[in-house]
Amino acid sequence: MPDIDYDSEVSFTSAAPGYWSTQGVSDEDWSNHRWQMRNRVESLEEVESYLQLSEDERAGILLTGTKLASAVTPHFFNLIEADNPDCPIRRQIIPQVAETFEDPTEMADPCGEDSHMPVPGLVHRYPDRVLLLVIDRCASYCRYCTRSRVVSGVGEQHLETKLEAAFEYLENTPQVRDVLLSGGDPLLLSDNRLKRILSRLRSIEHIQFVRIGSRIPIFLPQRITPALCDILREFHPLFLSVHTNHPRELTCEVRDALGRLADAGIPLGNQSVLLKGVNDSVEVQRALVHKLLLCRVKPYYLYQCDLIKGSAHLRTPIRKGLEIIEGLRGHTTGYAIPQFVIDAPGGGGKIPLNPDYVLNSDEDKTLLRNYEGKEFMYSEGQELSKLLM
Ligand SMILES: *Cc1c(COP(=O)(O)O)cnc(C)c1O
Repeated sequence: MPDIDYDSEVSFTSAAPGYWSTQGVSDEDWSNHRWQMRNRVESLEEVESYLQLSEDERAGILLTGTKLASAVTPHFFNLIEADNPDCPIRRQIIPQVAETFEDPTEMADPCGEDSHMPVPGLVHRYPDRVLLLVIDRCASYCRYCTRSRVVSGVGEQHLETKLEAAFEYLENTPQVRDVLLSGGDPLLLSDNRLKRILSRLRSIEHIQFVRIGSRIPIFLPQRITPALCDILREFHPLFLSVHTNHPRELTCEVRDALGRLADAGIPLGNQSVLLKGVNDSVEVQRALVHKLLLCRVKPYYLYQCDLIKGSAHLRTPIRKGLEIIEGLRGHTTGYAIPQFVIDAPGGGGKIPLNPDYVLNSDEDKTLLRNYEGKEFMYSEGQELSKLLM
């Protein structure tokens, strides 16, 4: 058995004000989401006043600003280890010059969303569910954003969601029973605006299931106020998918915010993106999924990094994802294991990828291997009708 310190793996620490405490920020301001948004770290000067940057990062911040804005909440910024140039938090959020390199296989719209929009801002790719893009801003910007073409407000393309037309489309499309709100980050909308959107969706009888995709609980846990939770709980069944990539993102504040959502009866899932130098090992993924369970979050998907322009430096080979799933399945709690998927380039949707546990099979016998590599034969037996004759 490997010698793993499971206790230290799942310890929670606070993203304390750090630098901002020397600037005289009060606890009250720090825990206010509006203060956090107003004080986001954006410009090169701001980043450099807190953090020593490499030449690569300096150039990244200067060059990538017209593709995807750079902004980080003080809460999340504080998770960066200042003395570690390879910090996994830093790699997700501080631009690198490699973002300006484009591999020929990369695309501006890798999941083919723009060509699957019956109404601007509404992606209808699967028969019974849709993705509704309700906002084009986030609390912080992930450098590998799959929707960077329309997110953050600085690129050439703009999100032009026609909400009223989207609601009408949904009213007239009874096969849609599931609506996923995303963006941008829907939880950046005001309480009132969110409430209006959710009420309107809930007024459509055939919409059974509503979910929100949001990284706000991670970037800006202060936004998960009791008032917000009270609004969300009016619209059950309502699920929420968060986006966490590294166990250090799960701070005390994040755990408490997730707890408030769970207490409001909202089932929580997590979507991770597999990223080079961030979470591309079994050890990091294991700590992440264990901590997620402690935060009452079920790991839902582990995504192969989309072929978004300028993301090659963060992408891993497909085999890495399979290796990670294999290193988890059987070795730990089944609830902790996400489904590894590739969102097919060009709009094919999510395709699940699994390690192969079938060594060979014929009509009535299948040779299997288990998580330890031991082999087992499963025989189908005779059909009952044959035995009776
Ligand atoms: C991911 C996605 C969904 C939801 O897929 P699930 O597998 O049900 O989580 C729906 N529509 C689009 C366009 C998506 O990309």
